[in-house]
Amino acid sequence: MTLSPDIASQLDLVALPTDLYIGGKWMPGAAGQRIDVFDPSTGTAIAAVADASIEDAMAAVAAAHAAGPGWAATAPRQRSEILRRCFELMIENKDMLARLISLENGKSLTDAQGEVTYAAEFFRWFAEEAVRLNGDLSTAPSGANRILVQHQPIGVAVLVTPWNFPAAMATRKIAPALAAGCTVVLKPATETPLTAYALAALYAEAGVPDGVVNVLTTRKSGPVVSAMLHDPRIRKLSFTGSTEVGRRLLHEAADTVISCSMELGGNAPFIVFDDADLDAAIDGAMIAKMRNGGEACTAANRFLVQSGIAPEFSRRLAERMGALKVGPGYEASTQCGPLINQDAVERIEGLVSEATQRGATVLTGGKRLERDGFYFPPTVLSGVPTDAAMSREEIFGPVAAITTFETEQEAIAAANDTEYGLISYVYTSDLGRGLRVSEKVDSGMVGLNRGVVSDPAAPFGGTKQSGLGREGAHHGILEFCETKYIAVSW
Ligand code: NAD
Repeated sequence: MTLSPDIASQLDLVALPTDLYIGGKWMPGAAGQRIDVFDPSTGTAIAAVADASIEDAMAAVAAAHAAGPGWAATAPRQRSEILRRCFELMIENKDMLARLISLENGKSLTDAQGEVTYAAEFFRWFAEEAVRLNGDLSTAPSGANRILVQHQPIGVAVLVTPWNFPAAMATRKIAPALAAGCTVVLKPATETPLTAYALAALYAEAGVPDGVVNVLTTRKSGPVVSAMLHDPRIRKLSFTGSTEVGRRLLHEAADTVISCSMELGGNAPFIVFDDADLDAAIDGAMIAKMRNGGEACTAANRFLVQSGIAPEFSRRLAERMGALKVGPGYEASTQCGPLINQDAVERIEGLVSEATQRGATVLTGGKRLERDGFYFPPTVLSGVPTDAAMSREEIFGPVAAITTFETEQEAIAAANDTEYGLISYVYTSDLGRGLRVSEKVDSGMVGLNRGVVSDPAAPFGGTKQSGLGREGAHHGILEFCETKYIAVSW
């Protein structure tokens, strides 16, 4: 099954792969079922991908397991060169991949292009890490022997990814796994599978051997992933998605004591002190809130603004948000695309109405747009109570919730008053205060006078219920390694 010819030609491709990718072969799946993929900009179906059964998943596990020893034994330099080629092919195909992401996810072309670059950079970074996986050697304190420590590939990894970054959430896992010498089975989100399959074709072209990367889509995520996690050939789960599903998968992984890396939800505070550079804070707020139309785990969820600067900050943020051009993601002039689906529109509408019923004021936006597709306009609310639903949950859309505070202590307490701990943003001109607050906020990452922090060379991840482990940096490759200690006498 391929895409319709007009969309295929818009994407400069005759045909995009939509079948399962197992052991280097494209397969329709044992049961022959398909899953519709929708264009959120119009709400229409654009393609149908294969729907994997448990039997298909077991075939993928078998293929990854069979390819494991050969890939682990491949010289690090050779693995590195293949990863480097994946980076180059992604950049050569940047325009096509960006259109595809925009088409199935709805994000603006600008955001989609940014995502492709970011996603490709994980291959470049981990091509460099593949040849620097150093162990260490020391003498035991007793002097009796040497302590030799090695990092070995952990084995076959199951990778489960969300729809909000269809390329980057996959490459942030595949690149370090392959660099470490692991083979993988990727299960992308059913909403955005086309990018994952297009990338699989590029990996094959780059020289990734058959069976090293397998990709399957399924409507039965729960049973299919559970079956893989109960197979003794699987040694790793790397998951990015909601905290709710992450908790469930941690329970599943406990049965076979599988190593888990979990990148889960967020509820980022964006703290602005009276002494902040207001222009910089507004620019940072726009990026932290509106990158990906607000559908990002790192999205600023709670704007905590000191009372002296709050009226001006709120007015200017509403002005900038209200001026954004909303439309289909793949139209060049669009700055804010649609949400992923109708459920998302209804959920956000519910959050806005609950906050306004409890006293929040709408400064711009606030009501869904009546047009085909899944649109909610950029919205700013001031006076949002700290116990409103949108202060407690991920908004995951283009809605900025502003609350004021008086003192530094109050800001820190409010920032930490959540079960999440992915990222916090702090804006102040006082470096001492900036570093003091950065140390006290309970999150894995802090943007200090910066609205975006994601970087393949930096450790990405959260504290509390935002996750376990880190992706990117040197930490990312270690998530796919077992540490082996050899006591040596010589
Ligand atoms: P989700 O948890 O609904 O789905 C994520 C993936 O899990 C998808 O592939 C889905 O098909 C699969 N899945 C769903 N139920 C499952 C089950 N029972 N068993 C196995 N797999 C299952 O999340 P989403 O809606 O796709 O993505 C949005 C969420 O992802 C947000 O909470 C966001 O914060 C989070 N996210 C986190 C990061 C991070 O790095 N921390 C990055 C991006 C997104």
